[in-house]
Amino acid sequence: MCGIYCYIGKKKALPILISGLSTLEYRGYDSAGIAYVTDKINIAKEKGKLKNLENLLDKETDTYMGIGHTRWATHGEPNSINAHPHKQGKITIVHNGIIENYNKLKEELNDYKLKSETDTEVLCCLIDKLYNKHNDIIKALLELKDKVKGSYALGVIVDDDLNNIYTIRKNSPLILATSDIGNFIASDIPAILEYTNKYILLDNDEIAKLNKDTITIYDKNGVIIDKNINTFDGSYESSCKNGYEHFMLKEIYEQPEVIKNTINSLDLSTLPDLSKYNKIHIVGCGSAYHAGLVGKYFIEKYNNIEVNVEIASEYRYKKCFYDKNTLVIFISQ
Ligand code: GLU
Repeated sequence: MCGIYCYIGKKKALPILISGLSTLEYRGYDSAGIAYVTDKINIAKEKGKLKNLENLLDKETDTYMGIGHTRWATHGEPNSINAHPHKQGKITIVHNGIIENYNKLKEELNDYKLKSETDTEVLCCLIDKLYNKHNDIIKALLELKDKVKGSYALGVIVDDDLNNIYTIRKNSPLILATSDIGNFIASDIPAILEYTNKYILLDNDEIAKLNKDTITIYDKNGVIIDKNINTFDGSYESSCKNGYEHFMLKEIYEQPEVIKNTINSLDLSTLPDLSKYNKIHIVGCGSAYHAGLVGKYFIEKYNNIEVNVEIASEYRYKKCFYDKNTLVIFISQ
């Protein structure tokens, strides 16, 4: 799972982008990159830890907007060429997700010369092609969603329009946030809490345009809509590393507390009755998968129902045998 972090506002962007990306490190990544705007678009990207990217950047640079990314490679090995952002024509993007039909799209985009092995760069070419057709990035993104199969959360900068950042999402997480110092796009809430606890959830197929003062949101037909601004009321500390050297350590040490809090807040009368099911699938990735294995042990022991635990990223490609008495439990962060 990768991280997206974009900022446009009054403050110098590079320190904000680096620290925002570092709050998304817990999601795992193999490389990182940032595109930032001075009088032009500049791209820095590097394999490995964020520190490697940070070493390429002068944090004092006069730049007030940028799009940042921590990559978890799905197409093409982890290296600095495959790292995001990618730029083709007038379009620069960071992308979280997988473009399922990228091979077919690639055949249709053979007038572009690809530098990387990624599905993301193909997507970037397609956006550029659609932008050239419409001369309007919103219309280009609206058409994009009909042409692309898969999952995406995007941060987009257009050469002709260096005062705005655009985003669209489908099946990959993304929030927008607004603060006194500017506006943000992020994969998760912890990344914005240093500046604000006000955030907006973007639904599938919605598009947003952020400038330093405003956020404009478009529905799937391109109509401007109002969306709720939510307030996050959890603590900043609990969403950060909280003094631990890394997130895994924090999670290990917090287990007793988390289990106590979970059990204490449990209302036994709301637990579902599993006896009506004859088969259960538990679907998750990483530690969620391992939590599923623990669940399997208990459910099989106490409920006497067969449980299959499945790796989430493979589940959609798999032939599954369901009937009306199969329960599927998805575990996610
Ligand atoms: N599929 C893209 C790639 O391999 C994005 C991966 C991600 O979500 O980090 O570059």
